[in-house]
Amino acid sequence: MSKKYVIANFKMNKLDSEIVDYVNSLKPLVKDATSEVILSVPFVSIKTAVESAQNSNILIAGQTLNENDFGAYTGEVNAEMLCSVGASAVLVGHSERRSHFKETDKEVNKKIMKSLRSGLVSILCIGETLFDKKNNLTQNVLQKQITECLNSIYANELSHIVIAYEPVWAIGTGITASCDEIEKAITTIRTMLVNLYDEKIAQAVNIVYGGSINEKNIKEIAKIKGIDGVLVGGASLDPTSFSKIVMEFNTKEKKTKKAK
Ligand code: PEP
Repeated sequence: MSKKYVIANFKMNKLDSEIVDYVNSLKPLVKDATSEVILSVPFVSIKTAVESAQNSNILIAGQTLNENDFGAYTGEVNAEMLCSVGASAVLVGHSERRSHFKETDKEVNKKIMKSLRSGLVSILCIGETLFDKKNNLTQNVLQKQITECLNSIYANELSHIVIAYEPVWAIGTGITASCDEIEKAITTIRTMLVNLYDEKIAQAVNIVYGGSINEKNIKEIAKIKGIDGVLVGGASLDPTSFSKIVMEFNTKEKKTKKAK
């Protein structure tokens, strides 16, 4: 059974002290989680979050990175810097980075290479806009994003990539993609991976969904065939809500063990 991922994206929310309180509240709530629990926090709080999460099953991630090595890139942070403060993963190509900061698939590709080769798990975000959806372009958009973002990524590196299918129209809108739409997109992405790599490698890639997940809709979404977890924005800001989402992905094996 593949590992599930439940990833929080705090975006530009929470002060350092609030993140300490959050992690301390979350720790006991998810201590029995069988999934990877990852919090993507603002750069300035990565170190504090890592320290607060010590001796727990919570991992800390950055929300983006610069694809260059050290140098004259004022305001930017590279993969080595993320690793040096204890980050385990990084979001790459989030739709807000693509729309506000005009990140292209080519840049996303370079960011993935840098993060992977520094030992970080890359959480690659892809998904169509409402315009794409209305014009039946979802398949084309996903194909372009997958092909360009994974260009020159070796098969053995794919196990360190989580693909987050996040339709842009569902992010922060309160509108969730239907279970059918999510299942179809996951199948489409996996088929694309089979074509780029092979069946065995494609099956091993973790594909999660993101877009207006909350503690109510997660029950149905967690049952979708082929889903390997979720990426949660708004509903991750409250540790209790987020923990309920995390625990929806607990495997039966662990629950049975605990019941004995
Ligand atoms: C996100 O930020 O990736 C996201 C899915 O946000 P929300 O859950 O708020 O839609």
